[in-house]
Formats: sequence, C-alpha cells, structure tokens
Amino acid sequence: MQVWKFGGTSVGKPERMHSIRNLITEDSTRKIVVLSALSGTTNALISIGESLKANNDAEATQKIEELYAHYETFIKELYKTPAGYAEGKAIIDKEFSFIRSLVSIKPFSVKQEKEIVAEGELLSTQMFEAYLREEGVNAVLLPALDFMLIDADNEPVLKFTEEKLSSILSQLEDKQVFITQGFICRNPRGEVDNLKRGGSDYTASLIGGAIVADEVQIWTDIDGMHNNDPRIVKKHSQFVS
Ligand code: ASP
Ligand code: MG
Repeated sequence: MQVWKFGGTSVGKPERMHSIRNLITEDSTRKIVVLSALSGTTNALISIGESLKANNDAEATQKIEELYAHYETFIKELYKTPAGYAEGKAIIDKEFSFIRSLVSIKPFSVKQEKEIVAEGELLSTQMFEAYLREEGVNAVLLPALDFMLIDADNEPVLKFTEEKLSSILSQLEDKQVFITQGFICRNPRGEVDNLKRGGSDYTASLIGGAIVADEVQIWTDIDGMHNNDPRIVKKHSQFVS
C-alpha cells in the first residue's frame, strides 16, 4: 500500500483534480490518497471564523457566500454529467448549510472555529470522491475523523490510527483507491480538531507509519525542481525540469 498526498494547489482547479484522477489510476498499486482543501479555502474559512468571533455576522455571511460562489463555479467544470454535477451540488450545499448554521451560534467558540476550518478538507475529498464515482473509479472515502486522533498535548495517537485503519482496511480488501482528508482529526473530547496549518503532509506521514506503507509520496504541482525557495530567493532561484 502507498500513501499519496496532494496539496491545495494540486486540487485547486477542476483540471488539476482531473489530472490526479489520471495519476492515481495509472497503475494498480493500492493507495490511500490524502487531500488538502482547495487552495485559498482554509484561509477563507479562518477569515470567516474571525468575522464570527468579532460578532460581525454580515461580514461573515458575505465571505461565506463568496466562497460558496467559488465552489459553485468549480463543480460546473469538475463534473461532466448532470448526475455528477447534482452530486457535487448536494455536497457543497450540505457543507455550506453547516457553515451558514455557525453564524447563529453565540458565542463563536474554539470548538466552532475548529469545525469551520475542517470544512475545506471535507469539501475537497467528498467532491473528488464523487468525481471518481462519475468516472467509474472504484474508490472509497475514509473519513479521517474516524481514525486520526490527537491527545491532550496535541500529539497524534498513532496506536489509535494503526488499530482503526487496520480494521477499516481489512473490511475493504477488494478496493484499490482510498481517499481521505489531510489536516483534520479528533481531540480527546471527541471534537473536530486539526494538525495545524500545512498539516496534510503530517497526516500522510502518520498514515504511512500506521499502515507501514511501502511509500509515502508528497505531490507538488510543479514540473521540476527549484534549487531555492522562489518566494525568498527571487534572482538566484533556478528551475530545473
Ligand atoms: N488545508 C490546511 C492548510 O491550509 C492543511 C494543508 O493544506 O496541509 O493549512
Ligand atoms: Mg503544504
């Protein structure tokens, strides 16, 4: 079994999701595919949470509807059939109705803040799974909230992941592709929590360790390699393809 992780940019456009579909079905290796939220989504969700914390409901609602509009456009290009589109629409409507319901919860607490940021990965993975189904790919969505856990010190409980995943996977031996959310987990109170910003890579490594994967691959949406971080080293960063 392999673990392949795709970050926000890799799932940030419908055509990128189409490419991931091609990549993961190119060979018959069994894999767990870990996805981040669509690029920009986690930042947008954090910003909605900040407006809600500041009791600025009108501003939060405006940000929520802007983000919803982005997803509406996205699914129009992602799916190729009316049935696929209808599934995608049902997914975004369900998740956004949860996000909208948070506007009326007062006070907006840390618990709700964690729930709102988890929505990015919940959206991307369900949308992608529905797309794979439309394409006839034999894939299963494994909810990370069922097997990713942190303890009271915010440290992952690897033993829990090992036991849970091995029991989940033993019942799905005929399946080849598994999709799951990066970043999100539960805490000892059973609430939704996360592994901190950029945590999807960490999820992939933890899953890889838990299942003793043959390989963990962290995919990045770039055709070659920079010999420096181009955000920091502008002039001397070289691109080698
Ligand atoms: N979506 C989360 C973030 O933006 C986790 C990740 O992308 O790795 O931080
Ligand atoms: Mg990253």
